[in-house]
Amino acid sequence: MPKHHRTATCPPWCVMGHGVHGGEEDNVHVSEQLSVRNTFLRLAATVDPATGHMEGPYLLVGSEEYTMDELDQLLDTLGQLRAAAADGGMGRSQRAERLISS
Ligand SMILES: [Zn+2]
Repeated sequence: MPKHHRTATCPPWCVMGHGVHGGEEDNVHVSEQLSVRNTFLRLAATVDPATGHMEGPYLLVGSEEYTMDELDQLLDTLGQLRAAAADGGMGRSQRAERLISS
């Protein structure tokens, strides 16, 4: 295992081995890669070392890229579907009820 070289701008979840390739790649931070079946999931962000400005983090799901807002929506949606499945039927979620009644 190569040692993980952290930079001053590394987010806490970064496991990128910085300082190996140098240049632009040192501005890119990635998390440990997790997987569900054959889909890989991880976080990625770009930090400008001069300004400390971070772009991201983004969630990478396979080749798709989600912002944290989109991730929240995804989790919310998954939760609704999971709850519907647990109810044993296609009962309307609370959010759907709100949308319908408004
Ligand atoms: Zn990093």
